[in-house]
Amino acid sequence: MSRKSSPVKEGWGHQVAMKKCHLCDTMATLRESHIIPDWYYRDEIRDFKHGGQFIDMSREPASKHGRAIVYPLLCDACEQRFGNWDNAAKRFVTAGEDAYGPWMLRFATSISWRVLKYFSLTRDPASLHGVSHGETQETLDCWRDFLLHEKLSRRLSRHTQHLMRVGDDYRLRRIIGLSFEDDGSTHFVYARFGAFGIAGIVRSTYKGWKTSKSRLYGSSGKLPAANYGPTDFLRCLVALEKEYERRLRAHSAQDRTHSAR
Ligand SMILES: [Zn+2]
Repeated sequence: MSRKSSPVKEGWGHQVAMKKCHLCDTMATLRESHIIPDWYYRDEIRDFKHGGQFIDMSREPASKHGRAIVYPLLCDACEQRFGNWDNAAKRFVTAGEDAYGPWMLRFATSISWRVLKYFSLTRDPASLHGVSHGETQETLDCWRDFLLHEKLSRRLSRHTQHLMRVGDDYRLRRIIGLSFEDDGSTHFVYARFGAFGIAGIVRSTYKGWKTSKSRLYGSSGKLPAANYGPTDFLRCLVALEKEYERRLRAHSAQDRTHSAR
């Protein structure tokens, strides 16, 4: 069954015609790139012994399924570049470690880039909360430059990456969510999957997050026990997490109603 009319194809392994790679601009047969790394689907979700499906908060209404969120974004070389960081993230999660290497900033930046790119290609501009096309492109360019050349720049400190551990229990690890949020002073993309919450700043007038414990610098680091500091930005994330949990409970309640019938 062809799904060519849909801009978003579910599953992986499909290929599309020659186009410009969204990261390096090379003409290539673009891969159906995972917005959230594929190990997450394979290891956390597709294992039906552990519950199978996840609650997908990336769309309205939220749904329950086991499909990956993919989009034709990258050439083979760029896919490999991201794959190395995705694998490092997988080892980090699998080993249950707190300490990470310089790869973490690259991984987080790649996630934020993928999410913002995906939003800019698939969503109504109104869902970007008043952030202009120019600002979106400037942020994407900044992250893209770092992903391609791996050099820290002053510009990067305007669009920082933040990492949070968002719940180890299996029930919560079944939530996936991509969002563009605005806490009044900060506009950011947020990806929630597995034990990770990754936020990338698109625009902010609030300085507090620059010194937040959640901020990633391009060096080795350690996941703090509690990432949530007393800033509007982090309060916004806490509210978002609570909303995810609320919707997870609503889905569970729906399941109980269905199974009781
Ligand atoms: Zn490329």
